Amino acid sequence: QRIGVPKETFPLEKRVATVPDVVEKLVKLGFQVAVESGAGEAANFSDDAYRAAGAEILPDAASLWAASDIVLKVRPPSEAEVALMREGGTLIDFIWPAQNPTLMHQLAAKKATVLAIDCLPRTLSRAQKMDALTSTAGVSGYRAVIEAANAFGRYFNGQITAAGKVPPAKVFVAGAGVAGLAAIGTAANLGAIVRANDTRAEVADQVKSLGGEFVKVDYEEDGSGGGGYAKVMSEGFQAAQRQMYAQQAKDADIIITTALIPGKPAPKLITAEMVQSMKPGSVIVDMAAEQGGNCELTVPGEAVVRHGVTIIGYTDLASRLAKQSSTLYATNLLRLIEELCKAKDGVAVVNMEDDAIRGLTVIKDGEITWPAPPLKQA
Ligand code: NAD
Repeated sequence: QRIGVPKETFPLEKRVATVPDVVEKLVKLGFQVAVESGAGEAANFSDDAYRAAGAEILPDAASLWAASDIVLKVRPPSEAEVALMREGGTLIDFIWPAQNPTLMHQLAAKKATVLAIDCLPRTLSRAQKMDALTSTAGVSGYRAVIEAANAFGRYFNGQITAAGKVPPAKVFVAGAGVAGLAAIGTAANLGAIVRANDTRAEVADQVKSLGGEFVKVDYEEDGSGGGGYAKVMSEGFQAAQRQMYAQQAKDADIIITTALIPGKPAPKLITAEMVQSMKPGSVIVDMAAEQGGNCELTVPGEAVVRHGVTIIGYTDLASRLAKQSSTLYATNLLRLIEELCKAKDGVAVVNMEDDAIRGLTVIKDGEITWPAPPLKQA
């Protein structure tokens, strides 16, 4: 079979779904690989590098989609891309079926088989090597700190210099899931004093192990909502949490927010009043911007200054580190394709008896198979 990788068409998207090192491995698995000319350019992978790894370079999207049995992508396909897809073809991609019902129907009408990488059952330890949500969140958390450092007018680490003593920056991280933990580790490595809070008490030890201090809300309620995810908290908890966050906002130089609740808008944790209480020159990076934001003053996709505080609402953090995130994503997809091609004969087999594969197969031969039944062991 031929695996094809088109150039991403979503505005500002710099990532690409495979990289030359992975092309070599796909070829070893018996596949032919085609890459659209310029697909890797924004992530610093040239057509020549793909060619040297064994890929064929096709001139445009139409020829790429027409030639491919299996297409690998990063962003969900646009309507124009679905139109180019081969009838009965396979697509491996982020899909977000709950948010994209029209897309699901368009793909089903193409008799496609679609593996949505965002639907991987993440609690299966066997699935971790394919977990692109985790690798993407890790890159984004790192980049959030780099964006904050870039917008902040001082050092992160404390220094004693001939020109005077410089205090370390204080970073507060709201939400310590995958992205939050990456941000905590990165900020601590840069020498900042890092504090973090999450509604799930179980993350306190992970925060500490990365060099942060866990700050608890003074209210007895645990936020675990099942499957490692958070739930919506009670009014009482939210009031106590606001009080604590108001204190942290006054003290922090940088706030990074990552709080999400599956299927719900992002909880509003940083009020306009808290922003106003921050020191001039402080920075907020709102990683929940795309889901409505954790801060009341966030403008999704933009960096704005409000009350002297820079509020960064970029929704393309992983794409801003395109080479790294593409490499990790490509490796996650390689691990998935290895599972689909155990015979190493260049043919992908979608085995619906396999829990991990069943979970992420959202359309099989034109039939919508999402949502998957719950895992037995979950
Ligand atoms: P996420 O992106 O859905 O949410 C980010 C964080 O925000 C979570 O830690 C959540 O608890 C927190 N949060 C939600 N509401 C909040 C509020 N009001 N105040 C403060 N914090 C709030 O989460 P994620 O990063 O995708 O990770 C969710 C969980 O899944 C984690 O426990 C992670 O370790 C787990 N996970 C497990 C696996 C696996 O088992 N293989 C893989 C990936 C992630």
